[in-house]
Amino acid sequence: MDEQLERTYDVVVRRNPGEAEFHQAVREVFESLEPVLLRNPHYTEGAVLERICEPERQIIFRVPWVDDDGRPQINRGFRVQYNSALGPYKGGVRFHPSVYLGIVKFLGFEQIFKNSLTGLPIGGAKGGADFDPRGRSEGEVMRFCQSFMTELYRHLGEYTDVPAGDIGVGGREIGYLFGQYKRLTNRYESGVITGKGLTWGGSLVRTEATGYGAVFFAAEMAKARGTSLDGLTASVSGSGNVAIHAIEKFAQYGTKVVACSDSSGFVHDEDGIDVDLLKQVKLIERARLTEYAARRPNARMGDEGASIWDIPVQVAAPCATQNELDTQHAENLVKNGLKFVVEGANMPATPGAIEVFSKAGIGFGPGKAANAGGVATSALEMQQNASRDSWSFEYTEERLQDIIEGIHETCLETADEYGEPGNYVLGANIAGFTKVADAVIALGVI
Ligand code: NDP
Repeated sequence: MDEQLERTYDVVVRRNPGEAEFHQAVREVFESLEPVLLRNPHYTEGAVLERICEPERQIIFRVPWVDDDGRPQINRGFRVQYNSALGPYKGGVRFHPSVYLGIVKFLGFEQIFKNSLTGLPIGGAKGGADFDPRGRSEGEVMRFCQSFMTELYRHLGEYTDVPAGDIGVGGREIGYLFGQYKRLTNRYESGVITGKGLTWGGSLVRTEATGYGAVFFAAEMAKARGTSLDGLTASVSGSGNVAIHAIEKFAQYGTKVVACSDSSGFVHDEDGIDVDLLKQVKLIERARLTEYAARRPNARMGDEGASIWDIPVQVAAPCATQNELDTQHAENLVKNGLKFVVEGANMPATPGAIEVFSKAGIGFGPGKAANAGGVATSALEMQQNASRDSWSFEYTEERLQDIIEGIHETCLETADEYGEPGNYVLGANIAGFTKVADAVIALGVI
């Protein structure tokens, strides 16, 4: 990074102490920006970097609720409304015990550029709470969601800020959040939240969109190298919304997914993951993967201390959480014949791992490009809500695929333009950034 980027990065670190994931996300983008600043001195004169790194608004609030034993519980809720130069704030909400301001800021920062890449009119935001839905009853989850929204609703609106799901927030939670918003405002404002159920304003394909989109991106990477996903093997980490639908779509492309994981470990199924059984175990029974392994003849849980990334595969799709694939994992994967990596999760590969992939010439699709299908389909849900319409599955999936193919092309073209052909990280960062930077300048110092 050049001197000016280093200086701005140091200021970010000083102003946001202890927020390691946020620092990492900023650094990753900054490392691509030197040639952009050289070509566009007005970005520096207009303090664009500083303006983009400072969130427009950060909301932190108490979330009080009562558990099934009648005991009061207190959690902390967050919403970081990061940048609205391109449209209303848009980004998911995460419920996980690890959530703190640094995680929400890293996700919100990434979201700005991801949303920009979709070409749709959406700004960047992210939210969450340090609440752990696992092991909680239906009633407890509902009361928590209602309390969370009781504070957050005043900051939302279809033209202001539109949340969606993320880790720990699926269709059930979106229902409780929207229900409480509707009750508090006395408005059926469908466009205020996305990921809704199909009978009350949701869009077909939204549930599948992030995982499907990541596989469309992987297919484009393969095509750009004159090959295809057909006949390859893959590992997909996680077994939640993104992972399950990535596994489903990989199978449609003829790719055999032989492993997936959850927070208790990973399962290796040489016959290929049975996606219907996986849905039954993880989405319906909300059980552990050990249940999946018990019901499949040739599946076994990974040994203690082993990693899903030890398994030899040609495609790796990390779809669980940040920094889950490190340098050692990357070296193992490369040694075992890896060809492609597609990030379904946000920032799942560490900077060291990305360097290993890059040196080995692996096709690497970064999250802000490869997992943009979720937010893109959220924007399609907003379009349907605004026109009181609902589109067919086929039409919506076609739109999703077009958007992902467009993002892939933009990344490649930008990488070419800046003299680094095939560097999707550089292409995504520069293309995502320049669009936001131009809008920030155009809107004046506000
Ligand atoms: P889910 O909650 O549906 O699933 C998350 C999965 O990852 C679960 O299998 C969970 O295990 C596992 N997991 C979560 N945290 C950890 C951890 N610390 N260690 C190991 N495993 C973990 O979330 P999503 O599928 O929605 O999100 C997954 C990733 O994709 C996140 O990075 C998210 O930000 C990103 N993403 C999601 C989008 C969406 O539309 N949902 C859009 C774009 C990105 P367990 O079952 O044991 O809890």
